Amino acid sequence: MIREYHKTMTMRKTTAGLFFIVLFASFAVAALPLTGCRRREERRTTVRPTGVPGRFAVRFETMGTDAFIVVYAPDAARADSYVAPAIGAIENVDRLMSFYRQESDIGALNSSEAGTVVEVSEETYKVLKESVRMAGITGGAFDPTYTPLRDVWRRAQDEGTLPGGKQLDDALEKVGAEHIVLPEQNHVMFKTEGMLLDLGGIAKGYAVDRAIEELQLAGCSSALVDIGGYMAVLGRRGDQRKWRVEVRDPRGEVNEPYVLEVEDMAIATSGDYARYFTVGERRFSHIIDPRTGWPADSIPSVTVTAPDALTADALATALSVLDVGEGVELIDSLPGVEGMIMERKAPAEEEDEGIVIHYSEGFRRLLAP
Ligand code: AMP
Ligand code: MG
Repeated sequence: MIREYHKTMTMRKTTAGLFFIVLFASFAVAALPLTGCRRREERRTTVRPTGVPGRFAVRFETMGTDAFIVVYAPDAARADSYVAPAIGAIENVDRLMSFYRQESDIGALNSSEAGTVVEVSEETYKVLKESVRMAGITGGAFDPTYTPLRDVWRRAQDEGTLPGGKQLDDALEKVGAEHIVLPEQNHVMFKTEGMLLDLGGIAKGYAVDRAIEELQLAGCSSALVDIGGYMAVLGRRGDQRKWRVEVRDPRGEVNEPYVLEVEDMAIATSGDYARYFTVGERRFSHIIDPRTGWPADSIPSVTVTAPDALTADALATALSVLDVGEGVELIDSLPGVEGMIMERKAPAEEEDEGIVIHYSEGFRRLLAP
């Protein structure tokens, strides 16, 4: 059922660009001092006390962004034993699925010829299968084969002119989950020459899920994992209260950040204020609509909650592409999924973008009083 959503507001346009890069970090970021010049490895696997008894945190870089893990544990040694396998799992996801690593499964697939079956790891296979499923659920709004379109837009950015219809049409011929063949377990084949896969819209979420899994296996029952704004919480905090996760408004200086109170849940935020590119004067989202070939332009920010982070991550990308009506319908059709969709009524360049915020009913219930 499509519900009526509320809270309309108009926001002042801001000029800062870089400002938005830190937007989606949750509450703990500010509380974690950087570890200075300690060795990278040491920093990665060694937790720090946070000032809250029994609460430890580690901050590290992975998958091209900042990540951190917070755990409750009896002591630092135990906290380390929780966190180490979780970080290992995240790094393994990066190793297997990075678009930018030649030797990753995705690198191997992207350099394979159409019609050749490539063997991939169990994990990559699983995420690919989920990606194809998410492409189906979202009507192709989320689609890991969108990548040739990104190349067209990268060229447009370099040349400073918008791409022609022919360029986009040529790329669109290689886009669509139907070009991916999964002939048997752990085997993948590209159907169409020139196609390219990028799991950038889903892999961080999957990595968060893997980290939570490893934390649980290690005996941890209370944790928060965040990879660049894709996060999940395990259980409640050590004091048995729900986790409080801050979701910053992309135009944070205009609107107060809002806080969600959650347990055993994943939260993902996608937004064009965090990452974008320009062609000439025009600014475009890094999320591309695989149905039209054009960057998404009416949804500046989306936050999704879901039982797992892979789902939340893929849906956040999809909801950035879909129009609000489609997005709302999608959220309402999925059990355990809630969302906040920001809609821009006027072009991004205009002084008054006429931002309208839509909340699903369940999302409102997660907002801290
Ligand atoms: P997110 O970080 O979840 O906002 O997703 C953005 C990333 O997903 C981009 O940086 C691309 O790597 C990728 N991406 C962009 N558009 C799409 C799309 N329509 N479907 C799947 N992945 C996408
Ligand atoms: Mg995503």
